[in-house]
Amino acid sequence: MMHIDIKEILEDYDLDKLSIATLSSHSALQILHGAKIEGLNTVLIVKKDRLWFYEQFKHLIDHIVLVNEWHEVVKADVIRMLRAKNAILIPHGSFVEYVGLDRAEKMEVPMFGLRSLLRVEASQKRKMKFLRDAGIKVPKEYDLDDLVPPVIVKFSGAKGGRGYFIANDKEEVKKGIEEAIGKGLVRDMDEVLIQEYVIGVPAYYHFFYSPVLKRLELLGADIRYESNVDGLKRLPHRISSGIEPSFVVVGNIPLVLRESLLLKIMDYGYKFVRHSQKELPPGVIGPFCLESIIKDDCDIIVFEFSGRIVAGTNIYVMGSPYSWLYWNEPMSTGRRIAREIRMAVEKGILDKILT
Ligand code: AMP
Repeated sequence: MMHIDIKEILEDYDLDKLSIATLSSHSALQILHGAKIEGLNTVLIVKKDRLWFYEQFKHLIDHIVLVNEWHEVVKADVIRMLRAKNAILIPHGSFVEYVGLDRAEKMEVPMFGLRSLLRVEASQKRKMKFLRDAGIKVPKEYDLDDLVPPVIVKFSGAKGGRGYFIANDKEEVKKGIEEAIGKGLVRDMDEVLIQEYVIGVPAYYHFFYSPVLKRLELLGADIRYESNVDGLKRLPHRISSGIEPSFVVVGNIPLVLRESLLLKIMDYGYKFVRHSQKELPPGVIGPFCLESIIKDDCDIIVFEFSGRIVAGTNIYVMGSPYSWLYWNEPMSTGRRIAREIRMAVEKGILDKILT
């Protein structure tokens, strides 16, 4: 990955006039809202067809950068404009999806978060290896010839679970993969992950690792509301049994966990932080999410991570039951990002939280 010299870029920055910059999607409103509360300036990169919507939140936006297409985000004049505004880019789930991984990695604007984690996150196989090596329990992985049903078949880069399918034997898996190749969802077997389908309930944990305070915070948890799998429960079994579930995320539902589960969840969080520090120094910075199934014996199996803010945090613009315990004030993940940046500036270690 290209090396970006953060210290050199920061030499031209006015630290009293820092801006938070993000793309108009995913968790942008929360990020802007949090930055304003913490007294930072905001820059929103808006695609023209969305301007009418984001203009309704003008009070949260100090400066708009308009683009016709997302790939323009990395054009030299946009980069220049962002740096002139002393901008720190906040990557979110739509950032890599819209801008593209190669471009996102090379973008010469300081990013709050661990840039090198983006590439790990983009590959199903590397991502699962990262979790496994961290010592976190993950679903079993199978080859076509040794699978134990039920399995879930996933494709690298599939957006929001699109195209994933559940299968009960080798023939179903083969047929599904051939169809996916036909639809252009996947190119070859290297991008296919055949994984144990874990029976239990889904739970997603929103973590924040603070390099400034050297502590891990659990800022919230959520459940994803997915079409059509969550709708199938509303139908009588005789009808739903014939319909293939799909996993397109449409929103998020708040979740408070049984307190005794929090010990394992925090342990997983710390394992993730420590492994990232060892494998990808300086390690994870700020928000990340572990995505799990909790089984009926309370075992927690993590099938995915996000190395940046997740959209489930949008539930907690006013803070979550957990963020209140740390901060005793309304602390969203967006606000927490801005707070971390402010604290790093005060301590003179801003370059330590940017990559
Ligand atoms: P993802 O796109 O990875 O977040 O997954 C989409 C959906 O598949 C979510 O509803 C998950 O709950 C479900 N899912 C993913 N992997 C597994 C697994 N190994 N076992 C059970 N459910 C899974």
